[in-house]
Amino acid sequence: MDINAFSYVVVGSGLLGSVVAERIASQLDSKVLVIEKREHIGGNCYSETDPDTGIEFHRYGTHIFHTSNEKVWNYIHRFTSLNTYRHQVLSSYKNKIYQFPINLETINSFYNMNLRPFEVDEFMSAIRDRTIKEPANFEEQAISLIGKDLYEAFFKYYTIKQWQIDPRKLPAAIFNRLPFRKNYVENYFFDQWQGIPENGYTALFQNLLSNKNIAVLLNTDFFSIRDRLKKDACIIYSGPIDRFFDYKFGKLSWRTLQFEKEILNMEDYQGNAVINYPEQEIPYTRIHEPRHLHPEKNYTKEKTLILREYSLADNGTAPFYPIASRENMEIFQRYREEAARLENVFISGRLGDYKYYDMHQTIERALEIFETGILTQTRLNNGC
Ligand SMILES: Cc1cc2nc3c(=O)[nH]c(=O)nc-3n(C[C@H](O)[C@H](O)[C@H](O)COP(=O)(O)OP(=O)(O)OC[C@H]3O[C@@H](n4cnc5c(N)ncnc54)[C@H](O)[C@@H]3O)c2cc1C
Repeated sequence: MDINAFSYVVVGSGLLGSVVAERIASQLDSKVLVIEKREHIGGNCYSETDPDTGIEFHRYGTHIFHTSNEKVWNYIHRFTSLNTYRHQVLSSYKNKIYQFPINLETINSFYNMNLRPFEVDEFMSAIRDRTIKEPANFEEQAISLIGKDLYEAFFKYYTIKQWQIDPRKLPAAIFNRLPFRKNYVENYFFDQWQGIPENGYTALFQNLLSNKNIAVLLNTDFFSIRDRLKKDACIIYSGPIDRFFDYKFGKLSWRTLQFEKEILNMEDYQGNAVINYPEQEIPYTRIHEPRHLHPEKNYTKEKTLILREYSLADNGTAPFYPIASRENMEIFQRYREEAARLENVFISGRLGDYKYYDMHQTIERALEIFETGILTQTRLNNGC
């Protein structure tokens, strides 16, 4: 392949890169080169079939598609249909399973009561810590709203395990974003369109990248072939922003996840796709059982697949979650200013924007980059 012939080069075949490549290929009828350093397309949404059980699973963590954004839905559903899966999370505490986020079932089960919705406020005001008048951090905010027992059971050690940070160092406002329900509603998401791609995420990416104008180069690091690309090619880069600038303002830090796969000789291990393990003594944070993501599939009854999830500090090889500390955000801001000065280069996606995006937000961002960036520049310059 003559990589020097492409006027559009997309770095990364995740959702950001694949959507932008599809738009360029179909709307501008231009050839696009997609460079991917992993051995597969799809970025962190990648799904595969486990050879022993035939169960479809998500290598980098369970992904549930959900959106209420009509534009995003109108775009993406041309490349996939979703199954009927509705996400529900459970939390295991002292060998008992609770609904999570906290709802009336959680409270009644935790306190062995039978409260009704209109009785919850009075009960909560009896258990919350009313001595904390101005909560200064996540822990104080939690205790002032739901009391010490619920906080320690479901939030304290889960947060420590997930982020390796003392919850007293996190802002109080983060706790306010977490849902608390006084009814029995168990849905995790309330979006209009939800589910899992019926044929898996990888099939969705194959469809996005199927345009004849798109060439995909796997197992290739952009930086190892950068010098051989066309000098004035338009670059859409969805890798880590600090790497793009050779870490000149310092390294951004990330959390990563590790998954321990196990096959069990039974039909169903935990009865749900995801269960949280918030206790301090248990080293993993969650167990995933991907067979539950596809209730429509006739999987084997002889075996099931589970994945234990561990949260770790990233050593630079597998960045998953940005850490929005003040220090990181200052470094990121300097890179962003530098990026804004570049011509013919768009840096974005969860690694480029150093921001957690849900999939629908990544698609929205990709469409925006194409429409307001690439398309506009192409019209102005007759080339990116
Ligand atoms: C554990 C986890 C669970 C999630 N669950 C959900 C969920 O349930 N629902 C939801 O809506 N969203 C979920 N998300 C978010 C979702 O994964 C992201 O929105 C999406 O993956 C972002 O796509 P992206 O293209 O920006 O990044 P990525 O998917 O990371 O793609 C970037 C790609 O660039 C490649 N790359 C990087 N550097 C280079 C280089 N130098 N050369 C070549 N290639 C390079 C990488 O290999 C990667 O393939 C989850 C995220 C995580 C981490």
